[in-house]
Amino acid sequence: MKLLQEILKTKAIVLRARNYSEADQLLTLYTEKAGKLTAIVKGVKKPKSKLRGGVQVFSHTNIALFLGKSLATVTQAEPIDTFSPLREDLLRMSYAAYLAEFFDVITPEGEQDIRLFTLFLIGLHLLSLDDPWLVARVMEIRLLTELGYQLQLANCVNCGQKVSLGILFAPESGGVICPDCSGEKLGNGIIKISGETIVLLYQFMEMELSKINRLRISAKAKKEIEEILDLHITACLGKKLKSKDFLNSISV
Ligand SMILES: [Zn+2]
Repeated sequence: MKLLQEILKTKAIVLRARNYSEADQLLTLYTEKAGKLTAIVKGVKKPKSKLRGGVQVFSHTNIALFLGKSLATVTQAEPIDTFSPLREDLLRMSYAAYLAEFFDVITPEGEQDIRLFTLFLIGLHLLSLDDPWLVARVMEIRLLTELGYQLQLANCVNCGQKVSLGILFAPESGGVICPDCSGEKLGNGIIKISGETIVLLYQFMEMELSKINRLRISAKAKKEIEEILDLHITACLGKKLKSKDFLNSISV
């Protein structure tokens, strides 16, 4: 008979931490070896806890988990990178909270995916250095693409015919829409966007992540990109993310 209980040693990113009891916390982890899982970390709120430093939210950590029948328990945690520039900046922290919530909601439980793990880790690195607005948008697009919600930018989402630049976008369908299919439905969820926005969306999908801070973006394209992604993500998830409202309230 196979034992149900075992120890898992893995690298992990702490997506979320919430209080469980007076001294314990529940963590949502994205692990390299087992994907997303929930784990309890006992005694972590006591000042002398050895686990404290390794389970800070948004940190990259080496972790050992005891896999019980229902809930995993953290038995060791050694930080690899806590992204300290992130922690010193409320705006960057708020973006990290938003991206972590998005990542948590959009990824399935218990499915190993090293590409997703690596992508999110790069996202945290970029978020501690580059323009957080830009990093968030690029990460949204990359994560959507990895998880099968890729934006359709070349062909009409309804009839499939090729659409040229300068264009109508149907965010809830996740792509451009041709004039024949959009009819007169502007304002009915369909948005007019500029050629600059389309070109930028392609760049967000394809360019090397280390070079994204070289992009120059007009205020108009920024507004269009954020509007499209907000509507598209809300349609994909079937709900609005709480941390996005907070982020909007502190962003200027
Ligand atoms: Zn069409």
